[in-house]
Parts: sequence; structure tokens; C-alpha cells
Amino acid sequence: MNIVIIGTGYVGLVTGVGLASLGNSVTFIDLDIEKINKLSNKSLPFYEPGLDKHFEDKKTFENMQFVSKYSEIDWDDKDIVFICVQTPNNLETNSVDTKFLESAINEVNSLDNKDLVTTIKSTIPPYEIEKICNKVGLESSSLTFNPEFLREGTAVDDFFNPDRIVLGGNDLSKIEKLEELYSNFDCEVIVTDPISSQLIKYLANTYLPLRLSFVNEATRLVKSSGGNLSDVLKGVGMDSRIGSHYFRPSPAWGGSCFPKDVVEVNNFYDSSELELPLISNIIESNKIQTNWTTKMLESTYKDKNLKGIILVGAAFKEDTDDLRNSPTIEIYNQIKEDGINVKIYDSMIESDEFLTLESFENLDSPHLIALMYPVNENLLNKINDIVSKTESFLYIPWQL
Ligand code: NAD
Repeated sequence: MNIVIIGTGYVGLVTGVGLASLGNSVTFIDLDIEKINKLSNKSLPFYEPGLDKHFEDKKTFENMQFVSKYSEIDWDDKDIVFICVQTPNNLETNSVDTKFLESAINEVNSLDNKDLVTTIKSTIPPYEIEKICNKVGLESSSLTFNPEFLREGTAVDDFFNPDRIVLGGNDLSKIEKLEELYSNFDCEVIVTDPISSQLIKYLANTYLPLRLSFVNEATRLVKSSGGNLSDVLKGVGMDSRIGSHYFRPSPAWGGSCFPKDVVEVNNFYDSSELELPLISNIIESNKIQTNWTTKMLESTYKDKNLKGIILVGAAFKEDTDDLRNSPTIEIYNQIKEDGINVKIYDSMIESDEFLTLESFENLDSPHLIALMYPVNENLLNKINDIVSKTESFLYIPWQL
């Protein structure tokens, strides 16, 4: 099929490269000219394991085009356009910022191709879509939804082996086109109405941080009770109704999706009419975990009389260089504010703000080295070496 992808971020690029590798012709449009230039020159704008292999494949690359202007696209022969632009949280209104989506929908609305299947992949509440459609003069029932569930760090595998595909919409012929596109994927396709499709996405992104917050609260309880954390979590997770998957403590959870999606879920309802005490407190629980981690690090640093703290791993989890809403950055800022010498080291991200590889390897005084998430064996060996040479103290918040 002939596909257009609007927005070459994590979702747009991974989806588009995946579809191109399956033989579709894919045109990417992004207003960020720098990104488009990079992509045209066969260079990826961010790190995602395995994406380079598909992106650089000769056949796949021949199936892709990159443009920065909507007018450069020949829309007449296109079958499906996926809108994959960002939907961040607007900090002033504490609700989703729809300006990127509105601008993309506006562009598509001005086209003549009425058979084009316009599909929203971005995470967005249907009531916001309704507002945008009213503003730009588009019938909202003409839109289809295909919420995205990929996880940064395993996004390529998630594209090829999704747990499920969710399609939302009222126009059956458009839904059929999407079903055809996904017909070779080995998973269940859930076809539903637009609201339910978005609720599946939002509630999944509410349950996951809720589970992570549960583990983090359990961690605080176990530590304050003097129990053995790994034994306790193992024992709890072995109950088949609970499971040990996605059951790891962390300094706090973060990333580009969970924080904003949980905030938005709490905008779905009127709290004077509906009480959802669990869902409305997930963000608060995570803030408490962030502060708790900072306190634990600072007290260990003081008790052991160390020279500084090094946080290893800048992003919100392993295998990504996405720094959006990273707990490491938040904890770093808190420690710095308390006047303690603190640095970040990340083996994947080069930044003037972070420790260089050289100064990390040649550390010559005892530091508290905190692993913010699991690191590869090479790096772990290097860290163990530094610890033994400098009498540093290794602190592993996810394995206390
Ligand atoms: P991103 O910020 O990485 O990329 C968005 C891209 O869209 C940017 O390159 C931007 O320049 C471009 N863009 C913005 N407005 C545009 C316009 N009018 N025309 C063309 N390009 C435009 O975003 P992302 O992380 O890929 O997320 C996209 C959506 O998918 C969000 O709604 C997000 O919540 C959802 N989502 C993200 C993930 C994830 O792991 N990142 C997973 C599932 C769902």
C-alpha cells in the first residue's frame, strides 16, 4: 500500500520503517527539516535497538521517501495516512497540548483524496479530537484510530510482534483498509469505536505505572520493615495471578508517555461526580518515590563519607536515549539543589552536561555510584572495577 507517516518520532519512524520493510511504499513528512535531512542521508535521529538494521536495508530504504513539506507529497495515490505527532502535556493547563495534532489534521483536511484513510496513532482523548474537528471543519466520524503500544527500547520487536492491534472508527470501509494492511500480523485485531480504542490505550498506560508504583511502594514498605526485598518481590510475583513480569522496583517511573497519559486520564472525568482514588494518586505516589530515592542516595553518600554521587543512566530506562521525563534528571536536580556534588554518566548519550567516558573511567576518589536501571555486562564490569579501585559504593535502586 501507499502510506504517509506524519511525524518521524519514535512512533512514526518505527511504524514507517516497519511498514516499508514489509513492502509498502512509505512517505514520511516531518516539519523538522534537520530530522528529514538526516533521514534522507541514511542517518537515524535517535537510538532504538534494531531500527538501523531495517532502516539501512537496501530494499526497505528504496521504499521510503522523506519530505518536510506537505506540498511535496503526491496525495492522489495514497491509501493511508498515519498521524504520529507528539501530544505532550501542556503544563499551564495540565491537559494535553493538541497544537501539533491540529496542524496535522488541518493539512490532511485540505486534501482532495476523499478515499484516504486518515488514522490517528498519537495518543489523544476523543473529546479533544472532537474539538479539533469542529475547529478545522472536519467530520470526526471520518477519522480512524490505531493507538500505538510500542515501548522505547524494544519498539522494533513490538512493531513486528504486537500483543494486539486496536482499530477504532465508525467507517467500516476505512477500518477494512487498515485490517488489510495488518492482515499478516500474528495477533488479535480488536475493532471498536473511537472512544473505546483510546480508552484501551489510556487505561493500559494507567495500569502499567500503577503496577510500577505498587512495586515501588512495596519496596519502601519492605525497606522500612527490614525485610529482604528480592525475596519478598519474588515470593509475591510467583503467585500466578500476579506474575513477576514488569515487577521491578525503580528510582521512579518516567518517560514520554506514562506521566502525560496518567495526567490526561484524570481529565477524562469530573472528580466531583466520580471517585477514582487509585488512578488519581498514581502521580503523587511516583513523586514520593522520586523524593525517597533522592533521600536514600543522599543518606548513603553522607553515611559513607563519599566525595560525590554519580547517577548511571540518564534516560527513564535502559536501551533508549529519550530523556523526556527522566527520573534521573529529576533526582539529579534535587541532589544538586541540596548542595551535593552530583554527576550523570550515560554510555549512550554524549552531552556537555554529563560526565565524559574518560573522567568516569579515571575516577580517583570514592563516590556513590547509583545504577538507575540495569546496564550491560561490559559497563557493569567497568563500574565494579572503579568501585574496587576507589572504594566507591555501588547503589542499585532497583535491586536494593
Ligand atoms: P516524538 O516527539 O518523538 O515525534 C513527533 C514528531 O512529529 C516530531 O518529529 C515532530 O517534529 C513531528 N511533528 C509535529 N507536528 C507535525 C506536523 N504538523 N507535521 C509533521 N510533523 C510534525 O513523538 P513520539 O514519542 O513518537 O509520540 C507520538 C505519539 O505517539 C504521541 O501521542 C505519544 O503519546 C504516542 N506514543 C508514543 C510512544 C513512545 O514510546 N514514544 C508509544 C506509544 C504511543
